[in-house]
Amino acid sequence: MIPFSPPYIDKEVIDEVVDTLQSGWITTGPKVKALEEEIADFIGIPNVLCVNSWTSGAIMVLKWLGLQEGDEVIIPAYTYSATALAVIHAGGKPIMVDVDDDFNMNPEMFRNAVTPKTKAVIPVDFAGYPCKYQEIYDIANDSKVIQLYNPTSDIQKKLGRILVLSDAAHSLGARYQNKGIGHKADVAIFSLHAVKNVTTAEGGAIAINMPLPFSNEDLYADLRLMTLNCQTKDAYSKSQGGNWKYDITGLGMKINMADLNAAMGLAQMRVYPELLQRRKEVFERYLKNFEKIDWIICPNMHFEGKESSCHLFPLRIKGITGNQRDAIIREITNLGVSVNVHFIPLPMLTFFKGLGYDIADYPKAYENFITEISLPIYPQLTDEEINKISSSIISSYGKVVETYAKIVG
Ligand SMILES: *Cc1c(COP(=O)(O)O)cnc(C)c1O
Repeated sequence: MIPFSPPYIDKEVIDEVVDTLQSGWITTGPKVKALEEEIADFIGIPNVLCVNSWTSGAIMVLKWLGLQEGDEVIIPAYTYSATALAVIHAGGKPIMVDVDDDFNMNPEMFRNAVTPKTKAVIPVDFAGYPCKYQEIYDIANDSKVIQLYNPTSDIQKKLGRILVLSDAAHSLGARYQNKGIGHKADVAIFSLHAVKNVTTAEGGAIAINMPLPFSNEDLYADLRLMTLNCQTKDAYSKSQGGNWKYDITGLGMKINMADLNAAMGLAQMRVYPELLQRRKEVFERYLKNFEKIDWIICPNMHFEGKESSCHLFPLRIKGITGNQRDAIIREITNLGVSVNVHFIPLPMLTFFKGLGYDIADYPKAYENFITEISLPIYPQLTDEEINKISSSIISSYGKVVETYAKIVG
């Protein structure tokens, strides 16, 4: 069986983890700091804070923003559930909007969804392909949108407009306007979960890029404190001796990353440019294999000044039903290839249906979903495996569509 998304674990990763185990310090300390610096250098944003997941990082940033009951945060309907759950955990209400053909948030639908209760927007770089940041940023800064803005916390007043919080869970290594993700957002959060391009098993990295008069350095320190129960001295500095006094200055969370986890990501970041290059080669080989097949819609790689981090390869099959897509996946699985579907739109999931969201309001999300199949993409894949995966798609499609043609008559 060709696995869908195994983590990248080579000797360097193992050595770095063992080194941490032998160092006598396993939780937040020098390795987390080193990983933050690696990521900061890589994306070109100086203040990066590591936490134990994307989800907890997003909850913290929204709590810091001061969401109150009834406050609205605009998100795409086509995303992983965490995007919406973080908003709810922080006390807000997710307002879902439909997506475009590239699976990313439609900026005009964002504009139309803005109300005096809107406090943030969370666009998603689906599959690692950057969303329309310039358009989204321009809407957040549009004088008509700012007229509607009704800040209810000091931070919101200081910002003076809707916060642009990027769900960059997929897009570490993507480029937008020739820069790393996070430059056209106030805050961007990357996920370092086990299936993501770079992983610490579980983890997240928050790139802090707030406009003036915010100081991103101060903000890094404040948010870091908030990840550690707002305790003025972390365990590492207390361990240094004679440094036992501390205070608790607010209601924090306990969502810091451990050095043991950071060690994995640190070793991966050192070779990430090469890993990313191989991902791009895998992506390009798929594009080439499917070049002449008119029923496959391939995802974007570079287009409109954007460059994907090639996190997923979400292909779509023209004109099929959801049942046919499911049957094709069963055939592919029988041929020894693991594929996936990203994502089931949020309004189709029980919890969100119960809150009143209805998939009928998101026709593009639905159409993208029923025709989508995500293929394996990771640096360890060989060319033979890529070719095997490609031909399994083609033969499975043939088999299913022929069978349906016979049934239908
Ligand atoms: C993986 C993912 C998340 C959640 O990341 P965690 O680190 O597991 O919390 C959020 N958004 C999207 C789009 C994701 O794919």
